[in-house]
Amino acid sequence: MQLFGNDIEGGLELYKKLNPKYVPAFEKFSPENKAALALYFLPHTSKKDVLGVTRPRMVKWYCPFANQKDFPSGHRYCINVYTGCSHNCRYCYAQGYEPDEAKCKDSYKKKLQKDLSEIEDFNIPAAPLHLSNSTDPLQPLELKQRLTHYTLEQIARYRKYFTTVTILTKNPTILTEPTYLEALSSIMKLPKNHSCNEMFNSTSLPPLRIEVSVAFQDESNASFYDTGAPSINSRLSAIETLRKNGIPVVLRIDPLLPRNPLPYGKSLEDFQLPDAQSLNALESLVNFAKEQQLLHIVYSVAKVVMPRYKPMLESMGRLKQVYEHIANGEKLVFRGGSWRLPDKLAQVHITMPFVQICNSYGMNVYYCKQNLLKTP
Ligand code: SF4
Repeated sequence: MQLFGNDIEGGLELYKKLNPKYVPAFEKFSPENKAALALYFLPHTSKKDVLGVTRPRMVKWYCPFANQKDFPSGHRYCINVYTGCSHNCRYCYAQGYEPDEAKCKDSYKKKLQKDLSEIEDFNIPAAPLHLSNSTDPLQPLELKQRLTHYTLEQIARYRKYFTTVTILTKNPTILTEPTYLEALSSIMKLPKNHSCNEMFNSTSLPPLRIEVSVAFQDESNASFYDTGAPSINSRLSAIETLRKNGIPVVLRIDPLLPRNPLPYGKSLEDFQLPDAQSLNALESLVNFAKEQQLLHIVYSVAKVVMPRYKPMLESMGRLKQVYEHIANGEKLVFRGGSWRLPDKLAQVHITMPFVQICNSYGMNVYYCKQNLLKTP
């Protein structure tokens, strides 16, 4: 059955079958908009009684597996331009479900175009858009394939359907090329008929943000953890260029790792790990964020991921031992395919001193989930 944008009745029939875990994200909408969202996100021909927002898409529901009660991300989109990521960060959470090899998706442009046309046909209310959750959209493949550049041009064309556009990367240098800067400038400009003009004007929040991930100050520590990512200097210098061009940037000091001295008389070297994030190193990054007038800082605590397609990296096994040492008999939390320090211990030993530094510089700092939920 092919349903079209004006088939409100058909959309509302689909909506009746929506899995209750997504309902809080739909509730605030008018019946017309509920129908539009159902038409876009729910499978039209499924025989199932309960439907999820898991229809294959390039412009996808942000986090289709989360229950909106625990993770109220609401209606927002994510585009994973590529599959896999060649930066090969040791702590990458996407190892839990993504294959190692970075590659392009079949018929990406054609499928992206189809999704954007449907968003227009169904007249879906504007929502935030994120590039990307599970891959770096500007990893080396982009130099040859330019699919992210194509995507940015298309986002500018369909700008009315998106609120804040966020690009998360460890390779901002590509964005300093004139053709990317041009695409970013187009995305910064909202059309006159955009439903959120007033909201953006009254809050002075920018409708585009580049989130650049720089968790280390020292190149050798960066190359230990971000094994295939561009150098720290190149990332910082690209941030400076983006700022000179008026592009809003967020600094992600993410993930945060344990630092010396560890409790109970141990050090990271006892676990054969470098002390990669001293408080001085973190302070220098926070100072950089302040000098460059970045929007704010985002952090999360490193998770020890159980990779799906290969054994756990030895270094991550050692990080797990460090967590067990800090936990001192308390159980680590295993959630979503990864081991984590219990929240209270993570706060005391990892996040609190860092947040205090951000506060002392007058920099707003948000935990990654909080950052997402605050992005309109
Ligand atoms: S850049 Fe992001 S997606 Fe790519 S390997 Fe690193 S953490 Fe994973």
